[in-house]
Amino acid sequence: MKEILLVEDESDISRLMQLHLEREGHRVTAAATGEDGLKHALSRAWDLVILDWMLPGLSGLEICRRIAPKLPVLMVTARTEDSDIVLGLESGAQDYITKPFQVPVFLARVRNILRRSQASPASDALTLGGIQMDEVRHEVVVAGEIKALTVSEFRLLGALLRNVGRVLTRNTLIQLVQGDGVAVTPRTIDTHVFGLRKKLGSEGDKIESIRGVGYRIQGHEK
Ligand code: CA
Repeated sequence: MKEILLVEDESDISRLMQLHLEREGHRVTAAATGEDGLKHALSRAWDLVILDWMLPGLSGLEICRRIAPKLPVLMVTARTEDSDIVLGLESGAQDYITKPFQVPVFLARVRNILRRSQASPASDALTLGGIQMDEVRHEVVVAGEIKALTVSEFRLLGALLRNVGRVLTRNTLIQLVQGDGVAVTPRTIDTHVFGLRKKLGSEGDKIESIRGVGYRIQGHEK
């Protein structure tokens, strides 16, 4: 079962796509506006995002530019001009389909993308629950909202997310956070973790303090 986000404002088409995707055994979340679509898109690591080109508010192309190629995208467009298709693919979409489409063709495109992305996970993103971290863009998104972290908080979170379920000692964390000429003490680490937890909101509860040792982030790896 794959988690698919479907962003399409035409309810008939949206329902049709959702029905067929669910018959294939996938779980579908539907959004009908650009803003809602982007919010959902940023909220987790979807297996596939299906984006209609023309949407109220943000266009599918704008959303695609924000999320691809981190997330696999199938663009849906009523346009048939080659230049538009090129624009979509250059913005990072994996594939496209033009409306009106045949359902078997649509499903074949979906299967292809899911198969490809499974073969080569093209992502530098670290995710856990509602936390999504992009180390390349230096961005942390929690439940769809971008959080401003300090460099130290960012490094700490990255280390924890790369070691889900493992305890990281304060010494390990000190070495990670330590910059040139900056003395970091165990107390400093505690302060950074405190700040980090606060910024992560309810997701911050996942960071567990191991008395006298260090910290661990709880979760289940996919
Ligand atoms: Ca539309």
